[in-house]
Amino acid sequence: MDIHEYQAKELLANFGVPVPRGNVVYTPDQAVYCAREIGGTRWVIKAQIHSGGRGLAGGVRICADEHEVHAAAADLLGRTLVTKQTGPQGKLVQRLYIEAAVPIARELYIGLVLDRGSERVCVVATAEGGMEIEEIAASRPESLMRVTIEPAVGMQAFQARDLCFGLGLNAAQVPDATRAILGAYRAFRDLDATMVEINPLAVTADGRVLALDAKMQFDDNALFRRPNVRELRDYTEEDPREAEASKYGLNYVGLDGEIGCIVNGAGLAMATMDIIKLAGAEPANFLDVGGGASPERVAAAFRLVLADPRVKVVLVNIFAGINRCDWIAQGVVQATRDQQITVPIVARLAGTNVEEGRRILNDSGLAIITADSLADAARKAVDALHRITRGGNAPVATTPRPVVTVGAAR
Ligand code: GDP
Ligand code: MN
Repeated sequence: MDIHEYQAKELLANFGVPVPRGNVVYTPDQAVYCAREIGGTRWVIKAQIHSGGRGLAGGVRICADEHEVHAAAADLLGRTLVTKQTGPQGKLVQRLYIEAAVPIARELYIGLVLDRGSERVCVVATAEGGMEIEEIAASRPESLMRVTIEPAVGMQAFQARDLCFGLGLNAAQVPDATRAILGAYRAFRDLDATMVEINPLAVTADGRVLALDAKMQFDDNALFRRPNVRELRDYTEEDPREAEASKYGLNYVGLDGEIGCIVNGAGLAMATMDIIKLAGAEPANFLDVGGGASPERVAAAFRLVLADPRVKVVLVNIFAGINRCDWIAQGVVQATRDQQITVPIVARLAGTNVEEGRRILNDSGLAIITADSLADAARKAVDALHRITRGGNAPVATTPRPVVTVGAAR
């Protein structure tokens, strides 16, 4: 899960990371009001979207009076920002963060990530902050410093000081920067983050150290025990299909193809996508309905998959271990009837209660195409797709449809 910069700054400030005074605002008038409240003579207005690279895309504005604050806020709100990370469709700016602008002397980079190789939290730092870390890593990898944290003892002050000296900070700045790095580490650990990035960690012209930008990502699987983090989720920043899926506990990732997939088990879902490609088509999604899928969950899965207008065929692939094929079959039949599904459905069931599952599909009177194996299912799904896209008599029927049972019902 991603959160906004202003949310990350608030969390980090609770762990002692120094940040400028700031406020989130939703209208230009609020921006002016907050600028007055913050005080000073210069402010930064920043678009709050789940993306980096906002500075280069015009999403960070420095303002020198209230008139400029109002104008910058009015200009940014409702604008779609296209950054290096958003893709060409960009992201809509719905809220802004306004904070006291500080005169910057140096921009440093601090990042905390989980290093899967060493199975440790790794703190990365470079004096060449402000830029994208990927560019620094590619162009000047020798400028990156790395510290690996021993989980039994956590990050030690000497490790943070080592990084500070490596960053060229002076004796007056090291205590503040050490506090910022150790605070970022504790926030990472205590909030089940998977990434914390402070870029830039600025040294100001008057020698202070401040986090001017902050980004945090969290482990979705730990959100159940971090309710105060979970409530920071902003569904409007997510793929609407994926947001809807998470409400039903379905693991869904939207893709660009035409064959919708309803599968149980992440591994089987991956294999299903592979074999669709092998058979000559593209999957529309990854979807793992999980074990113990009730008819309601299957119905939700169908609604989700079919909400994508690109989907021309649905492939249901269930290997029932924890699941039961008869439940899935009931779900498929119920969803087909209730939702008046008109796209061809190919179903491959295997495992617990498979005979019962097949009988339910066959007796339903619906045009559900059954398949014996994964390869068979993919082939039939792609054939059905080609019948539609290349013309001919596609099995697109209105309910109730004639029974077209392909494959042996054993
Ligand atoms: P990003 O482009 O999405 O990573 O957004 P940042 O928050 O990192 O802002 C981009 C750049 O704007 C920073 O690298 C700074 O150079 C500049 N910036 C951000 N906040 C301030 C500030 O308070 N004062 C000044 N002078 N510049 C700032
Ligand atoms: Mn940044």
